[in-house]
Amino acid sequence: MHNGEVSYWWRARGIPPRRPSLPGSTEADVCIVGAGYTGLWTAYYLNRADPALRIVVLEASFAGYGASGRNGGWVTAGLPGSRARYARHPRGKDGVRELEQYLRDTVDEVARVCAAEGIDASLVKGGTLTVATSAAQEARLRHRLEQERAWGDDAGIVRYLDQTDLDDRLRVAGAVGALYSPHCARVQPADLVAGLAETVTRAGVRLYEATPVTSISAGRARTPAGDVRAPFVLRCTEGYTADIPGQHRTLLPMNSSMIITGPLGDEAWGTIGWDRFETLGDDAHAYMYAQRTADGRIALGGRGVPYRFGSGVDHDGAIPTSTIAQLGRILRRMFPAATGAGLDHAWCGVLGVPRDWCATVTLDPQTGLGWAGGYTGQGVAASNLAGRTLADLVLRVPSPLTTLPWVGHRSPRWEPEPARWAGVHGLYALYRTADRLESARPTPRTSALARVGDLISGIPH
Ligand SMILES: Cc1cc2nc3c(=O)[nH]c(=O)nc-3n(C[C@H](O)[C@H](O)[C@H](O)COP(=O)(O)OP(=O)(O)OC[C@H]3O[C@@H](n4cnc5c(N)ncnc54)[C@H](O)[C@@H]3O)c2cc1C
Repeated sequence: MHNGEVSYWWRARGIPPRRPSLPGSTEADVCIVGAGYTGLWTAYYLNRADPALRIVVLEASFAGYGASGRNGGWVTAGLPGSRARYARHPRGKDGVRELEQYLRDTVDEVARVCAAEGIDASLVKGGTLTVATSAAQEARLRHRLEQERAWGDDAGIVRYLDQTDLDDRLRVAGAVGALYSPHCARVQPADLVAGLAETVTRAGVRLYEATPVTSISAGRARTPAGDVRAPFVLRCTEGYTADIPGQHRTLLPMNSSMIITGPLGDEAWGTIGWDRFETLGDDAHAYMYAQRTADGRIALGGRGVPYRFGSGVDHDGAIPTSTIAQLGRILRRMFPAATGAGLDHAWCGVLGVPRDWCATVTLDPQTGLGWAGGYTGQGVAASNLAGRTLADLVLRVPSPLTTLPWVGHRSPRWEPEPARWAGVHGLYALYRTADRLESARPTPRTSALARVGDLISGIPH
């Protein structure tokens, strides 16, 4: 079985030869640091708005090396953060509702651009299912549905499926019901990011790979090969942000790990169903997420080792065998029919988590420094909206995007080590124990341990 090698998604399409690195100091109108979805969407919309703009993208490794080439492939309209916290913005609840509507529309915007630019990322908008596999999970889903209705979200946004309706779509062993929302699509993540990189470079954006930025200051991104001077420098480094001087405690690099099976046979798919390609998650505290891939496999992810001391990151996505075993158990429990397909590849990556779990898109007009990220694992669609918003902020065009409540949002900094490490590991120990306790008993009560965890972490509900 393959372990690491960045991701199955990259192995399937082949890691491309490196584009040239920065040949020496240069000037640009906009310099973007990081060639994941955030950086590339920003470059895309800037270029579309003004093809004459000189845009330079600097990438430490290769475009899509980070989370954008490793993720679960959910193009989800999920809000990256807490409604209550975003509602503290002067625009209050209306602003949050507008942000949520923009996120729903963004799923279609990603599909629109893929079609317009000829990016084949196997995108299918089949919606998303959150299944309950214990009484406590089911009670939480029903409670969440009540909250959604109180917030004003109707059945067109989210609805409950009982076990019969769920079975009609997808047979998950032990599932007793699910929430369904149509506002999600499945993609092959590396195909999306590679397609974006090809699209922007074809349009004239200068993308330099193997070019790590060592510091960012007003008007300048410094690299070992020279400086890029630009009135706007945009940091789009999400889970890797901690390594940039001055940003060590801005975003916590949270780890997420994935496995993928070999191709399943017709018999197994006949048992499982999943003909509409919904993305799938559960409502455990240490939750899982999955998709049925275009090449007939199940890709399934979960937290694994949640965090590395000192905000460290993985080596090309390699993960411990204990995490592979843990994810394999979840796969076999939920999809016994998939067992025969075996496991083909396992990998991990980091996503950026702000201390208050709320994402931001920010441009300081005084310094020209901007940044976007902190999508807490919901960045595939959100990074498109963030990129469009960053572009509008740079171009100073009148835009409804630039007044959304995540614009200019400031999160507190993370605690220094060892508190950061102890906090995150303690939190996931609580969550895993809570999940075990909830699975073992038939009562609908959420474990008190999980409530303690939520209180410590500030994870929004
Ligand atoms: C395993 C996993 C599963 C996930 N599943 C989902 C999902 O299903 N749906 C969803 O919505 N979200 C998911 N996410 C989160 C989502 O993938 C990210 O939020 C999103 O890809 C972030 O994009 P980005 O461009 O901001 O960051 P990244 O894709 O991480 O890109 C940052 C880039 O910056 C580069 N870089 C870093 N430092 C420097 C530097 N100093 N100089 C130059 N370049 C630098 C990196 O090499 C990298 O290419 C998942 C994340 C992971 C890890």
